[in-house]
Amino acid sequence: MSSEIPVKQVDPSSDPSDKNNKSGTVELYASRKKIYVKEVEGFFQRIRNVSLLLLMGMYFLFVWLTLDGQPLIHFDLPAREFHLYGTTFYPKDFFLLSGMLIISAFGLFFITTLFGRVWCGYTCPQTVWTFIFMWVEERIEGSRNQRMKLDKAPRSSQKVIKKSLKHTAWLLIALATGLTFVGYFYPIRELLADLFTLQANGWAFFWVGFFTVATYLNAGWMREQVCLYMCPYARFQSVMFDPDTRVVSYDPNRGEPRGGRRKDANPADLGLGDCIDCGQCVQVCPTGIDIRDGLQYECIGCALCIDACDEIMDKMEYPRGLIRYTTENELEGKPSKLLRPRTFGYGAVLAIMIGAIVFVLATRVPAQLDVLRDRGALFNFNGDGRIENTYTLKIANMAEVPHTFSIAVSGMEGMRVLTDTTVTVVSGENRSLPTVVDVDPEIITQSNNTIRFQISSESDESLILETESRFVGPNR
Ligand code: SF4
Ligand code: SF4
Repeated sequence: MSSEIPVKQVDPSSDPSDKNNKSGTVELYASRKKIYVKEVEGFFQRIRNVSLLLLMGMYFLFVWLTLDGQPLIHFDLPAREFHLYGTTFYPKDFFLLSGMLIISAFGLFFITTLFGRVWCGYTCPQTVWTFIFMWVEERIEGSRNQRMKLDKAPRSSQKVIKKSLKHTAWLLIALATGLTFVGYFYPIRELLADLFTLQANGWAFFWVGFFTVATYLNAGWMREQVCLYMCPYARFQSVMFDPDTRVVSYDPNRGEPRGGRRKDANPADLGLGDCIDCGQCVQVCPTGIDIRDGLQYECIGCALCIDACDEIMDKMEYPRGLIRYTTENELEGKPSKLLRPRTFGYGAVLAIMIGAIVFVLATRVPAQLDVLRDRGALFNFNGDGRIENTYTLKIANMAEVPHTFSIAVSGMEGMRVLTDTTVTVVSGENRSLPTVVDVDPEIITQSNNTIRFQISSESDESLILETESRFVGPNR
């Protein structure tokens, strides 16, 4: 058997969609076709506007807010502290952060199973910023047709002014986005002061620049390309879909056969469905697809095509909903279920994880005590003839207020703490406290003894921590 693979010389410029393409070759790279999105008003666009204003408001405002003197949200990487809504988290709370990420992931799976890509269509930062950039574009360059005309027009002063204005506005929004993002890691007031006086370190300049450029490119230039080629979620979301998932769909039973007609014509007389083939659903689509071709991975579930089609249905005096949120089962005339094993599964994991996190947060002790025994000397006899051991107490105060702790030790009769018996630890501090304990030698019956250190807050009776350690004496 021959192991040779036949190789054929092909013309790389050939286009398979071109009817004149006789070579039958497939072009693996298709250059991007600019999408001119038509602005549309409607129920779902209004919902998105509200969600957009809410999310943008939160993003740009929260960075400035404080609660009890602490930033509302601040990731202090050098100090390894995360301030979140009045609670400070430390590296030891990392599992809580992991738990919250798992909750977010399962929340996303749960919602996707029920309603498809609502995250993508309404709340994903890529969508939110792209819609803002599109809104700015429409205000400066005009409607879809005006923008297409402007792009085709030869260079003129008016074109240069409009383009410059648009890119300046985009860059300003991108800069505000970059500054705000870095402000969650570098206190925003200090960041602005340090940047303008050139006192900020190089990393601050780098990250502000990086997020500014990334926002400008992603929302201004790449747009749907990010969703189509860079976002992994678009690729694996289909595994969460089933015939009962409610997604944006065109109803072919009602719409086909499509075709143009006069408004007063009866479609049944013409043998037509309700789709007048106006193409409005395609013109408003930010990813440039035709929803009438069925469910496609390019569809981000933004529902703009629903608003556009409903507007046409109103004009034609047909019932709304030719394109609507529906399920595959409903389109086939079968009953559709909201609750099913898949939703129960994701819902159960979500409920368990939320319950666990709430429990851990509710029972979280805002302090930590570790005791390290001095390994340099097993024990010493002090001037009183008593045996002493040396320790280092590590006390972390994870509360938002300072605490003064009383230190006590127990486990052997007559034990004394010879060093400080109170210590004040400020919020977020991790204090190391050398501590010496002594015991009457008569009490010691064995060389290795279990003792317990206890710290109790003077201002909060419920804040008491205990840790076990060893007290070493001579062999008996
Ligand atoms: S087809 Fe286009 S307009 Fe319709 S929901 Fe999907 S992405 Fe949005
Ligand atoms: S907007 Fe509605 S009527 Fe117009 S082409 Fe799309 S589906 Fe058909």
